[in-house]
Amino acid sequence: MANDATAPITQDLVTIPRKLPEGDKTNLVGLTRDQLREALLAIGTPEKQVKMRVGQIWQWIYQKGVRTFADMTNLAKDYRATLEQHFVIELPEVVSRQVSDDGTRKYLVRIAGGHEVETVYIPEEDRGTLCISSQVGCTLTCSFCHTGTQKLVRNLTAGEIIGQVMLARDDLGEWPRPGRHPKDETRLLSNIVLMGMGEPLYNFENVRDAMKIAMDPEGISLSRRRITLSTSGVVPEIARTAEEIGCLLAISFHATTDEIRDKLVPINKRWNIATLLDALRDYPRLSNSERITFEYVMLKGVNDSDEAARRLVQLIRGIPAKINLIPFNEWPGAPYERSDWKRIRSFADIIYKAGYASPIRTPRGEDIMAACGQLKSATERARKSRAQIAAEAGLD
Ligand code: SAH
Ligand code: SF4
Repeated sequence: MANDATAPITQDLVTIPRKLPEGDKTNLVGLTRDQLREALLAIGTPEKQVKMRVGQIWQWIYQKGVRTFADMTNLAKDYRATLEQHFVIELPEVVSRQVSDDGTRKYLVRIAGGHEVETVYIPEEDRGTLCISSQVGCTLTCSFCHTGTQKLVRNLTAGEIIGQVMLARDDLGEWPRPGRHPKDETRLLSNIVLMGMGEPLYNFENVRDAMKIAMDPEGISLSRRRITLSTSGVVPEIARTAEEIGCLLAISFHATTDEIRDKLVPINKRWNIATLLDALRDYPRLSNSERITFEYVMLKGVNDSDEAARRLVQLIRGIPAKINLIPFNEWPGAPYERSDWKRIRSFADIIYKAGYASPIRTPRGEDIMAACGQLKSATERARKSRAQIAAEAGLD
């Protein structure tokens, strides 16, 4: 049957790899410096030269954006040929790019196995932020989040995570010319937020390795203060985030009682509000200049009362924080509505008067479904029903 050329071909987009692997060539994108070193030694790079070679190849890939070994002109020709034989420099494939009226760009990105994730670029006056995904879908099932309704889940590799940064730089035309290093403030892509699809702390090692690459001064060279990781509250990994990545932290808080948070962010049943706040109070990098962001989605009649705002400031007392209010972004079948603007302003006012910054996040890219929580692969098939979503949220 396998050899029968007339047999019908059944295609399953979810499982077909986008390219047949080229022999057993290793993709260098996403390797840590140590892994790159090992890979170069394995192809016979002399021990004495390897440190220098790692540095050279690293710079070609992450500083100059070069994709073929032939272009690595400071390496000997035969060495370039050997590299070519064993390695590739490959990014995930951009399937489509949509540009919103407000300049937001949403990339649909295909990774190995045919899975798709979304990456969103948000230009602002003083910065350009890339919102990247860490998983296909998410194993957590926050009841207000579109991604959480997607059944299919796999962790992204470090290469697929840093690859999103590189493909956005390709699209923005932002690989610096040799010898020129634009300051962070003047870069088109100046900030990264791990706020796309997935729970980054359930894919810790790959997220860490990718962010180390983003911060490496010989490459993309973003300051750790320009990277923010958002978690729904995976308590055991929070201290590690400070120690091993050193980026800023955002917490998807969203509720001020365990009863409501259990429904909105079900991971709360495992690590409740008190446990989460204890972990944040112990956060190794806690300081006024590196405040923790509390994300709070505004859901009409659910978590948006003045009383809830007062409870929120009580709860977080003592933690250097800012509170980012996110007007709920609707998606088809969502069991919630966005709070009225008057309600959001009243909530924000209480927090502000208690001494906390309380910016209201302007929804960006709504016309292309690029706003927070709207991300979900278009090809994803196993959709949960409206009833299932409501049931899991405890809303039925
Ligand atoms: N999984 C991580 C990071 C991705 S979500 C986390 O949950 O923190 C990024 C932010 O968008 C989170 O604060 C999330 O709670 C919020 N969000 C999810 N769905 C949303 C929606 N429909 N409207 C507004 N914000 C939403
Ligand atoms: Fe996952 Fe975050 Fe969405 Fe919750 S809000 S389902 S943790 S992506």
